[in-house]
Amino acid sequence: MTTQLRALVTGVSRGIGRATALRLAEQGYAVAGCYSSASEAAAKTRAEVAAFGVPVYFAPCDVTDLAAVEAFVGAAEEAVGPIDCLVNNAGITRDSPLVLSTEADWSAVISTNLTGTWNFCRAMTFRFMKRRAGVVVNMSSVAGVYGNTGQTAYAASKAGIIGLSRSLAKEVARYDIRVNVVAPGFIETDMTDALSGKLREQALGQIALRRFGRAEDVADLVEFLCSPRAGYITGQVFQVDGGITL
Ligand code: NAP
Repeated sequence: MTTQLRALVTGVSRGIGRATALRLAEQGYAVAGCYSSASEAAAKTRAEVAAFGVPVYFAPCDVTDLAAVEAFVGAAEEAVGPIDCLVNNAGITRDSPLVLSTEADWSAVISTNLTGTWNFCRAMTFRFMKRRAGVVVNMSSVAGVYGNTGQTAYAASKAGIIGLSRSLAKEVARYDIRVNVVAPGFIETDMTDALSGKLREQALGQIALRRFGRAEDVADLVEFLCSPRAGYITGQVFQVDGGITL
């Protein structure tokens, strides 16, 4: 009999989070997941995860609110048992040139993407340390590595995630906790559906493989990084971008 592994995925209702939850469930993981407000989409994903016959716990939780995050982590572990892998995936964009951006855009993006990631790391890490085991996968973006026009806040939040992750990886390696980063390029989700036709055309022109990625392309790497097959990998940033940065 194999041991039941358990993963917690943020932003699980749609896109990359949904694909990650399904990939992990397919591998036999119990899945705890949070989302912001899309309860219909979350209920659909929840049913798809449950169809793999694994324990599931889904609930809304605003990643920007540390108290809510701590309560969610407690409830998730109560429901499915001690979490082995944390996937910080929830994120938003508020794209516009800096001179047209507002302080509210900046705050929303930084608090969701960067503070949200820190909040879940803060809530989970001590639990991992006590168990002397744990895996964290944080979702950055190629924008966080190279920057991108119209994405000063988003790129700053995603670059911050890389600094956070590398620092945490150094801090907790001696507890056998691994921390890695996935940096996707253009992936077909609601987030990229919002782009104008012109921007999509421009992006496609830069991608060596001449197509946008699928959420499953990212989920496959996340699942690998969660698994013991990645047991000697920590503090790294992996791009899934179809060669956009070649
Ligand atoms: P998406 O389809 O827009 O889904 C975003 C998810 O995050 C949803 O589940 C959403 O919940 C959740 N979320 C947003 N704000 C939240 C909050 N305050 N608290 C809790 N959950 C929250 O996005 P995606 O394209 O799958 O992107 C997932 C991650 O990959 C993000 O971090 C994004 O920056 C990163 N990424 C995406 C791409 C891309 O091309 N798609 C490229 C690079 C990096 P609701 O459904 O309830 O709103």
